[in-house]
Order: sequence, then structure tokens, then C-alpha cells
Amino acid sequence: AKADGRGRWAVFDPVRSARDRAKSALAAALPAALERDELVIEYQPIVATDDQRLIAVEALVRWQHPQLGRLGPDRFISLAEETGLIVDLGDRVLATACADASRWLAEFPDAQLRVSVNLAARQASEPGLVGKVSTALRRTGLPAELLQLELTESAVMATTGEPLRSLRRLAALGVRLAIDDFGTGYSNLAYLRRLPIHTLKLAGAFVEGIRGDDPVSQVDERIVDALVRLAHALNLSVTAEAVETRHQADRLLALGCDTGQGRFYGPPQEAGGITALLRGSADV
Ligand code: C2E
Ligand code: CA
Ligand code: CA
Repeated sequence: AKADGRGRWAVFDPVRSARDRAKSALAAALPAALERDELVIEYQPIVATDDQRLIAVEALVRWQHPQLGRLGPDRFISLAEETGLIVDLGDRVLATACADASRWLAEFPDAQLRVSVNLAARQASEPGLVGKVSTALRRTGLPAELLQLELTESAVMATTGEPLRSLRRLAALGVRLAIDDFGTGYSNLAYLRRLPIHTLKLAGAFVEGIRGDDPVSQVDERIVDALVRLAHALNLSVTAEAVETRHQADRLLALGCDTGQGRFYGPPQEAGGITALLRGSADV
């Protein structure tokens, strides 16, 4: 047993401690990784549920680790949030996403492809946010309307005062705001009145529940139905996340979801994959 620093004794757990060591090793390596440009962005298609045309892509960060290979954000985003590095990391993601989207706009102007970028709570309440977003838009020439920022309900709830005004300023510039993982956070919807939200992204958990005709599935369908009605009553658009099967895609279309995202429509892929998709639909 070993003292945990708060005067308590913890039982030594070799598996846990190996995991913690691996985690702190990653945390220590992250700043250098950022310097060496080891972050890669993959883009996942967001398509119209009715005809599957490409409407937007979500930027999802990965870490191309020299020894460990490509690591998903679950391995390092929470570390970056704890250390504050998330702000620098987020700046990189934003700049790259705007640059790629601007290139897609130049090559495929008819597609009007939007790019959706995740914003951590810490970024949302950072004083430089409006300046950084405006700079990224100006440098890349991307129209504000083609940028969407995704915030979770808890990030929005944590945002008050000046940061809340920054989000409103961004919305006034034309940037779209989306609520990520909608339905899993607070049941308090007051933030919908405080912020000009454009889109609700329904949490994957509800979509996952749509499996067939079992009773659980019926409940999840009713929840989705109610959330879509709520969203549409407020003039918000609805994106369903984690769509994996044709059955789910069919049900979500019937329930009125506007757009969908998930392996059924297409996996996250590097920018070149999206360019190929755009080229394919431009040819037909
Ligand atoms: P998220 O924003 O909810 O992103 C959607 C996640 O669903 C992604 O996980 C995506 O790869 C995954 N996904 C795609 N298709 C399917 C499917 O058919 N079924 C299921 N079950 N999942 C699917 P990923 O890429 O591992 O990202 C995990 C989380 O990391 C994201 O969740 C987001 O919260 C965070 N994240 C990713 N990139 C960034 C970033 O640049 N900044 C910040 N702050 N967070 C990020
Ligand atoms: Ca997201
Ligand atoms: Ca999500």
C-alpha cells in the first residue's frame, strides 16, 4: 500500500498504475507533438437524410504518434483539457479545418460544404475566441456561414457573462452554433433561449437504441421523435449521430432528422477522402 498524498492509503493496483503512467507519459509528450505537427484531422461526412448529399463534415482530431500509431481523441483530449493545452490544440484544428474547407469551396463552389469544429468548454470561455475565429476566417477566406462550432450542453452551461457574449458575437458574424451530444447533459433547456443555436446533434445513445421492434427501441424512437419536434418548433436543424445501419437511417428519415452522421454514411477520413467524395458527386 502507498500513501495517496491526502493521508489515505490506497491498495497498489499494478494495472491501474501502468495505465496512469502511460497516461502521464502521453500528457508529457503532447506539447512536443503539437510542435512537431503530429496532429492529423479526419473529417466525417454529415449528409442529408433524404438523398444523402454531403452537407458538412465534422473535424475530428487524431494524434499520429511515432511509436503508438494513430491515437483517437479519447486518449488525449481530456489530458489537453486538464493542462490547458486544449486551447493551442483547438487553434490548430480550427485553422486547418478552415483552410481545408476554403479549398473545398474554391474547387467545388456548388457544394457549399460546411465544416464543423468541436469547441472544448475551456476554448468557449477563452477571451481570445472571437478574435481567433475571425482571424482563421479572414486568413483562409472561408465565409463565416460555412463554419459551425459544436459545444456540449455542459460547455454551454459553463459559459456565462463575457464568453456568452463572444458566442453571440460569433453567431452574429454568421458562424453556426451546434449543441453536441444533445440529450445527454442537462435537462435544463434555458440555454436555448440565451444563445442563437442553429443545430442540435442528437446523442448517439438514442440512435444506438433504434434497433428493431423491441420495446427499448420504441422508447428511443419516441424520444427522438419528441426531440426532433422540439428542435423544429424552435427552428433548429437536427443531426443524428452514430448512424450505423440502414434501419436506423430509414427510421431517422421517417422521424424527421435533417442530417445524419455515422459509419453508415461514411467514416472519418483524411481531407483527400472528402475531396474524392466531392469530385465523385460533381461528376454525376
Ligand atoms: P464527438 O464530437 O461526439 O464525435 C463523434 C464521435 O463518434 C467520433 O469519435 C467519431 O469517430 C465517432 N463515430 C463516427 N461514426 C460512428 C458510428 O457509426 N458509431 C459510433 N458509435 N461512433 C461513431 P472520435 O473521433 O473518437 O472523437 C471522440 C470525441 O473527441 C468527439 O466526440 C469529441 O468530443 C472529441 N474531439 C474530437 N476532435 C476534437 C477536437 O478537435 N477538439 C475537441 N475539443 N474535442 C474533439
Ligand atoms: Ca462533435
Ligand atoms: Ca457528438
